[in-house]
Formats: sequence, C-alpha cells, structure tokens
Amino acid sequence: MLELALVLVEQAGPAPSSDGLELVAAARGIARRVEAAVLGGEGVAAETLGAHGVACCHELGGAGESLPAPRVAAALAQLVAGSPPGAVLLASTTTGRDVAGRLSARLDRPVLANVVGMELEADRIVVHNSAFGGTLLVSTRYEGEDPAIVLVRPKSFVAEEAGGQPASVVQAPLPGAGAAGSARVLERRRQELAGPALEEAAVVVAGGRGLGSAEHYGLVERLAALLHGAPGASRAIVDAGWAPYACQVGQTGKTVRPDVYLAFGISGAMQHLVGMRGARHVVAVNKDPAAPIFQLAELGVVGDAPDLLRRLVARLEAPGGAGAGDGGK
Ligand SMILES: Cc1cc2nc3c(=O)[nH]c(=O)nc-3n(C[C@H](O)[C@H](O)[C@H](O)COP(=O)(O)OP(=O)(O)OC[C@H]3O[C@@H](n4cnc5c(N)ncnc54)[C@H](O)[C@@H]3O)c2cc1C
Repeated sequence: MLELALVLVEQAGPAPSSDGLELVAAARGIARRVEAAVLGGEGVAAETLGAHGVACCHELGGAGESLPAPRVAAALAQLVAGSPPGAVLLASTTTGRDVAGRLSARLDRPVLANVVGMELEADRIVVHNSAFGGTLLVSTRYEGEDPAIVLVRPKSFVAEEAGGQPASVVQAPLPGAGAAGSARVLERRRQELAGPALEEAAVVVAGGRGLGSAEHYGLVERLAALLHGAPGASRAIVDAGWAPYACQVGQTGKTVRPDVYLAFGISGAMQHLVGMRGARHVVAVNKDPAAPIFQLAELGVVGDAPDLLRRLVARLEAPGGAGAGDGGK
C-alpha cells in the first residue's frame, strides 16, 4: 500500500461533492492514509469526510471563486512538497481537469487521465481506462516518480462510509497564482433544474432518435418529473437540437449510475452505453427487436416509444395515478 494519497474534494455548500467521496473510496483502496484538499463550500465537512476515511482535511477555501484552478494547482503543489503523497487523485470535472494539467506542469509528472479503475501491483499504481468506445479496457502501470496524478472519471467508484472519526482540519489558504491566474469569467449562464441533477438521479428517463420529434422529448421530461428523476438524451437528439447538451449521456456526455435507466428509442451505440451501463436496472423501449440496447436491458419492450411514453404519462398523471404524491413508487 502507498503511505499517503491526497484527493481534491470539491465542496458545494456544507457537503462534499459525490465525485469527491468517490475519490476518497478510490484512494482508500491504494493508500493507508487519505488526506483531502477541500475546495469551496461552507467550512469543511470534516465529519462526513472522516466517516468516509479521510484522516486530515486541508481547507483551501475558495468558495464562489471563478476559475480557481491556477491557485488550487499551486496549493496542491505546496501540499505535495510538504508531505509527499504516492498519488494525487482528482475527479474529471471541469475544475479537476484544469487543476490536473496545471499540477502536471508544476510537478513535471504525467496525468493518468480518464481512469475508470485502479489498483496496486507491487506498490505501483495500475490504472484502467476504457478505449474505443468502451470495447477495450486498457491497463497502464505507472512507473514514474511519485506522486502519480490520477484523473478519475465520475461514477467509476462507489462512495462508501468507512466508519472513521471526524477528520482533522488544517488551513491551507489558496496562494496567488501569478500570471497563470489572470483569466477572467466574462459571462455566466444558469441552467434551471426542476428535479435532481442527471448524475445524481436515482431514475433517469432518456430519449433517442426513435422519439421521432423534438416535441416528444417533452414526454421524456414529463415522465422523468413524474418519477422524481432526471431526463437524459442520446447524442443524436442533442445534435439535432431536441434536447440540451447538459442531458447527453455517454462518452462525450455524462456518466450516470441510477437505480433505473429507462431508454426510449435509443439504439444502444457503444458511445451511449459507456455512459449508462453502470445503471442497476435498464428498461428499454425500441421498435427494433435486434437493437443492441436490449442486450443490456433487464426489461425490453418492442414497441413505439412515443406511444408508450404518452400512455405512461397519462397513467401517472391520472387522478390517483402512481405519480400523484406517493413519491412515484
Ligand atoms: C466520438 C464519438 C462520441 C460519441 N459520444 C456519444 C455520447 O456521448 N452519447 C451518445 O448517445 N452517443 C454518442 N455518439 C453517437 C453514437 O455513436 C450514436 O450515433 C448515438 O448514440 C445514436 O443515438 P440514438 O440511439 O438516439 O439514434 P439511432 O442510432 O438512430 O437509434 C434510434 C433507435 O430508435 C429506434 N426507433 C426508431 N423509431 C422508433 C419508435 N417509433 N419507437 C421506438 N424505437 C424506435 C430504432 O430502432 C433505433 O434503434 C458518439 C459518437 C462518436 C463517434
């Protein structure tokens, strides 16, 4: 085992992000001691992070800071110099990717990117990546100098409590980043969310080209709302302008791991499957009995997607329907 792994945990409000807790679980599998550099949030969630196995939190602050990566990379480089870990783990979020590249330049180490699995082999880190649209799993053994910089794809590890005590907290305020910190945010656009975030939803209702039209995506959104879930989409309909990019699931979209994934009119191309095959149960509706999505589906319905959506929505919206105030069960 490595003596120490350092993880970057992004915190929103009082709670650590689920990506951060997944990183902690990944780090526990390779290191005896896990420390977290905590970015943003209202104070540090020392109790939660401790329960997940973090021994010490370095409070970076930086709540609400725009483009924090240059300063975060500088802070991580200082932490690495002070107490060298065997690995630094970051989630493949916008900030995580930005920080990883900058940390790589500061430490003169490569980044092991898009990691979906990780283990130790004779105390060397071996990371797994999926390649060629998920048809191949490539394993890479890191033989460079410590620390390995590992960028982990969200939903690749399962966050789990380890029964630890609240983590200790030390201040590690973000240092200046010099010229590297001179980028400015010019505009912000806010996406309104009616239900849970796509990556966090227990139920995802997703639509593909088999919906036939942009109007039918409205049925996907309605069913998702009735089931207290989030709407998802294949890239084909995002490219067609039927659904926003924020809803895209797959290789170039989001990775989801819901309890139930309902796929309406989605063929099941490999690039889509890599984003949702971690779902516990998959239900697919497709008019083609040979559609590849059926190979993954636990329940497959050969039928017309818009018709089934209409009937499900009508049933759940009917007075006394299952969607009426009982939690969508
Ligand atoms: C580099 C790269 C990255 C990519 N990244 C992604 C990604 O992140 N996410 C993603 O989704 N795709 C991605 N793609 C695209 C991917 O290869 C597929 O083209 C895409 O997923 C197909 O979307 P679809 O299933 O909606 O459409 P189609 O493949 O056209 O399938 C439509 C399905 O609907 C069925 N159908 C038709 N009419 C009906 C009906 N009335 N009722 C029920 N079923 C019906 C058909 O039988 C068919 O199976 C990527 C491709 C590349 C090259």
